[in-house]
Amino acid sequence: MIQLIRGFKDILPGDIELWQQIEKIAVELFEDFGFKQIRIPIMERTELFKRSIGEDTDIVEKEMYTFADRKGDMITLRPEATASIVRAYIQHKMFAADPVQKLYMIGPMFRRERPQKGRYRQFYQIDAEIFGVASPLVDVQLIFLLTTLFSRLKVADARAHINSLGCPKCRPGFKTALREMLMSVSDRLCSDCIRRRDRNPLRVLDCKVPACREALVDAPSILDHLCAECKEDFAEVQQSLDRLNVPYVIDKRLVRGLDYYARTTFEIQTGSLGAQSAVAGGGRYDGLVKELGGPEMPATGFAIGFDRLAEICGLNSADLQRTPHLFVAALGAQSQAMAFEWICSLGLAGIRAEMDFSGRSLKSQMKRANRLGASHVLILGENELEQGTAILRNMQTKEQTTVGLDHVVENIKQVIFA
Ligand code: AMP
Repeated sequence: MIQLIRGFKDILPGDIELWQQIEKIAVELFEDFGFKQIRIPIMERTELFKRSIGEDTDIVEKEMYTFADRKGDMITLRPEATASIVRAYIQHKMFAADPVQKLYMIGPMFRRERPQKGRYRQFYQIDAEIFGVASPLVDVQLIFLLTTLFSRLKVADARAHINSLGCPKCRPGFKTALREMLMSVSDRLCSDCIRRRDRNPLRVLDCKVPACREALVDAPSILDHLCAECKEDFAEVQQSLDRLNVPYVIDKRLVRGLDYYARTTFEIQTGSLGAQSAVAGGGRYDGLVKELGGPEMPATGFAIGFDRLAEICGLNSADLQRTPHLFVAALGAQSQAMAFEWICSLGLAGIRAEMDFSGRSLKSQMKRANRLGASHVLILGENELEQGTAILRNMQTKEQTTVGLDHVVENIKQVIFA
């Protein structure tokens, strides 16, 4: 038997209802806040991700699903959404109509990471981006959207962590200070961190290896190196989060693995996910639109890990399961033919109706109705057919009523919608 690929998974009925509900609540929230949906391809030219995510990142270095297509063009399954959304924003000159664009997308991403709990090779993200606004207030709005979504989904202990990454003016000074400090603890760093120390020292702060984390307890904080504008910007973020009553933690260790981030950066973390504590992450990436060939354009956004969100969502999955409103237990060929017409008409009226197609006994049809969790059963045997009636049984109260065959669909609609 052929099994699915390691790190990939199926989402089956029983689980999917929760995913659908999360998606519905997220879409409603985004649309209420003026975001529009965008759909982007699953594959892009490899070059797009190399340039936007940065050659010196885990994603590009070791996690992308990259292959040559039949003509030899290098193609990659998207590992994240921002690069493609920026490409679309530039390619379709969306900025010409209005530089301010608020976009969201929901879909699968692909990274060849080591599979473990909460980490898959195909996983899903809910992604939102705002182009064309430099004000830190829109960063706050994104954090507000995230915390609102998490509370609507009854996620228990989600906390916003925030930090500033500075700007191209003040970050170099911090990088130098950090690199100097890293030199002094080199013997305690893992080999990846030694390499990052020279090329992208910020990423050392992000290392999950316990020995590295310990070595970095006294690492300098970027917040002590911010220029006046970045300081003011970060203060405004905090003040408006306070005004909106959004609790947050300032986390000087919070850096993003992607090169294009600047100023506000944030993560939503939760205690219930173990090692994979981040359920969403994002921040400002003012340099990327220009970097990919567009105009100078501020931008900010986030990505939520859908799989992790589904795990910690407090909505009751059992409440979301949809069972049939009606099961028609029809005995004999003529009854079956009538039943079939009814279930089709009922479906059109939004009533979920099922029947048995294999001519089983009344007893086994009742058993099946029970197993499906049908709330009512309509029994139509030869006797009933002769009398021009059927019996409608409420499976919960066990109450039975007789309905005339002339207006079955109307009668059922009335009972079910009552
Ligand atoms: P990133 O694009 O790396 O900032 O990730 C954003 C969010 O996507 C994370 O906070 C995770 O919740 C989720 N995520 C990232 N990688 C994976 C993965 N391999 N499996 C499941 N979720 C992931």
